Amino acid sequence: MEPILKEVQDAGLGQSLLREVIRLADRFKEKYGHPPAYMEVCGSHTHALARTGIKRALKDHVRLISGPGCPVCVTDQKTIDAMIALTEGENRIICTFGDMLRIPGSKGSLLKAKTEGKDIRVVYSPSDSVRIAKENPDNEVIFLGVGFETTIPVLGIALKEAWEDGVKNFSMWVTTKLVEPVVRYLLDSGEAKLDGFLLPGHVSVVLGKNQYSYLVDEYGVPGVISGFEMNEMLSSIYLLIELGLKEEAKIINNYKSVVKDEGNPQALTIMETFFTPNDEAWRGIGVIPKSGLDIREEYRSLNAKIRFPVTVGEPIKTKCRCGEIIRGLVGPEDCPLFGKACTPMKPIGPCMVSSEGSCSAHYKYLRE
Ligand code: SF4
Ligand code: SF4
Repeated sequence: MEPILKEVQDAGLGQSLLREVIRLADRFKEKYGHPPAYMEVCGSHTHALARTGIKRALKDHVRLISGPGCPVCVTDQKTIDAMIALTEGENRIICTFGDMLRIPGSKGSLLKAKTEGKDIRVVYSPSDSVRIAKENPDNEVIFLGVGFETTIPVLGIALKEAWEDGVKNFSMWVTTKLVEPVVRYLLDSGEAKLDGFLLPGHVSVVLGKNQYSYLVDEYGVPGVISGFEMNEMLSSIYLLIELGLKEEAKIINNYKSVVKDEGNPQALTIMETFFTPNDEAWRGIGVIPKSGLDIREEYRSLNAKIRFPVTVGEPIKTKCRCGEIIRGLVGPEDCPLFGKACTPMKPIGPCMVSSEGSCSAHYKYLRE
């Protein structure tokens, strides 16, 4: 076997683990007539599986399907249009995470709005935008907050600071996403045939292992919570195949150093305090009921959607296939724009914008 794994520091263990995974996967195929298919829900897994060479090394033995786990990739076009519309008001400072700037909406991106003179600032933490609000009392500072359960508590901390310090010129436009509703959506639709899930490491730090019991109890599907190092991912895939061969559906915590059964109580409390379930629109999927969180009514003065409502039209249709990619139905190379009109330098869809997106990871590490 070619030494295909790229992370040389662990190459010895990596190569032998890889051989074991392939041996088991081939037994799985012999038993069930198809190779095992697992979805990685997390964008960082998508990136790490491509970067380390695991995806390439396993391509003839295990189907590794990128799921809807990158917050950038699942951000709906209408959301970007609304954010751009939000920059139009007087005396506004818009703050957000870097990746958000490049996502194309119907009429350009936040980056384009910035080059046209809008005050749009990239911050590393939502709390930085509260500080900016304090420093600029004559401006309205709006933070555009996207993210999964990993980011939501951090948004909550910024809301807490603004609330407790009585910062009146700060608000947040929140469009967050939750893992469970979209995983249920994918399983209920039955579109992507999956034998299990490589469960997201960071999200699981917040939620805990117990939260995934619905996978086993209601769907009979196994899942392994995994870290991001090469050997952690390989051993998680190994455990998934082993469960499949034993016809056992259970959740294994293969990231015990950081993931606890009950999650992170402080993070869960802050989520519960400031946010309430909300129907969210997912790119290429549409609205999934209660699949995100928005700011609770008690804190409505901090909710930019209430303070600065904007209306946007229906998004313009493009040939971008991100919607099908995040549902696990097609791969990046099935998109006619991949590597031609759409590249990381000039992305057309969000899966090419974020380094965690499957198109970008595929472009960088897996192009033939
Ligand atoms: S936020 Fe963390 S868990 Fe979620 S997609 Fe990104 S890296 Fe994965
Ligand atoms: S290659 Fe570009 S246009 Fe095609 S699906 Fe990926 S992001 Fe969308």
